[in-house]
Amino acid sequence: MSKCIGCGRDLSNDDIGATKKFINRGATEFYCIDCLAEHFKVERSFIEEKIEYFRAHGCTLFPKK
Ligand SMILES: [Zn+2]
Repeated sequence: MSKCIGCGRDLSNDDIGATKKFINRGATEFYCIDCLAEHFKVERSFIEEKIEYFRAHGCTLFPKK
């Protein structure tokens, strides 16, 4: 299991997908959603909404649960 390079938390598939989507598709180190939100100076809920949007549109980075 990968860990967030910002805070060390265990990462979910959504965290990994979000790092790829928002930072770099080829990323090999990942951030959790909280650290991504901090990085982009947005609310965590903003990132979560984007993830749900991409999931609803069939983005392969965010498999349906
Ligand atoms: Zn983190």
